[in-house]
Amino acid sequence: MIKAHLKDEALLDDIQNVPKDRSRFHCWWLGQSGFLLQWQGEHLLFDPYLSDSLTEKYRSTDKPHVRMTERVIAPERLDFVRIVTSSHNHTDHFDPDTLRPLLAVNRDLELIVPEANREIAAARLEVDPSRLRGLDAGQSVRVADFEIAAVPAAHEFLDQDDAGRHPYLGYVVRFGNWTVYHSGDTIWYDGMEALLGAWSIDLAILPINGRGPERRVQGNLWGREAAMLAKDLGVGTVIPCHYEMFEFNTATTEVFVQKCEEYGQTYCCLRAGERWTSSTGPVSGGGE
Ligand SMILES: [Zn+2]
Repeated sequence: MIKAHLKDEALLDDIQNVPKDRSRFHCWWLGQSGFLLQWQGEHLLFDPYLSDSLTEKYRSTDKPHVRMTERVIAPERLDFVRIVTSSHNHTDHFDPDTLRPLLAVNRDLELIVPEANREIAAARLEVDPSRLRGLDAGQSVRVADFEIAAVPAAHEFLDQDDAGRHPYLGYVVRFGNWTVYHSGDTIWYDGMEALLGAWSIDLAILPINGRGPERRVQGNLWGREAAMLAKDLGVGTVIPCHYEMFEFNTATTEVFVQKCEEYGQTYCCLRAGERWTSSTGPVSGGGE
């Protein structure tokens, strides 16, 4: 089992006692596609997966989900979260065993899901659909100081339901002068650069476990593409994700790192439970 950089009390201590500099923001990798964003004391979670629900569900089947990295924190310890986003309905991106405890300890939690998934997501959580906030691609919502815009994701097609809504999304989150893009699960689709180029992205969080030479798993960017997309979008820093959670669906960062170096793209490979901190702001699109 891969050890977390920080976990439990030590992680909470880092989150709560990070040096207070109101011009910077902080981002912790919680494993898989899960990240905690902190800006001026407010917290947003992207795609948290903080249980063993998939390992348990697939135990004794022919597709065991063997966990590779230890869990960094129990969800009920995160009682200071304002917003959670879910990019799509797969359990490592929408996990009732993570979300129910989060809802229980955060009374005003805004839980943002693709509108296409809102009814089914509510049923899985056993809450009324009105408890969830649905967004479709092209829509946005402001919660506290965060402006959250939904963009399409192609996992691995740009699916739309009968009403034309996207069940797979990414989110662009703006606060202060900063912009963060969490892509969800996506491949590189036509029009992606034009669409995302409208924002000046300081931090992009992109999967690297997708198809590539000799890779079995499809549906996501792989290392070279993630590096290239970040470079094409002119993002400040790119953080890779979606690896080292399950043995059957992982990747190494080797190609990603090599390509970032080659393209002169700033990147940061975190360990689970590790923090990335922005440069000082305010800047516009100039995060390190
Ligand atoms: Zn995924």
